[in-house]
Amino acid sequence: MANYRVEMDRAMCISCGNCIEACNDLWKFGDDGISSLIDSKMEGDIQIKELDDLGCSVDAAGKCPVICIHVYEVDIELA
Ligand code: SF4
Repeated sequence: MANYRVEMDRAMCISCGNCIEACNDLWKFGDDGISSLIDSKMEGDIQIKELDDLGCSVDAAGKCPVICIHVYEVDIELA
């Protein structure tokens, strides 16, 4: 089960490239020139990806000048 969730609002992205420079395991520029969260699912303008470990995701989020990357810890006990 994934422990963390990353969300990125592509509508806010200004294509500065900071997230890709900080964390190219998770981000790359899309064909439209806007940064894209690799292997994520899209809900509206939001890209969502679940992670087993944080990797460099928090570093990337901290370097986004428009704060459109958010990282959440998922902690749901079902039984
Ligand atoms: S750091 Fe933020 S604004 Fe810059 S490319 Fe990445 S998502 Fe877009």
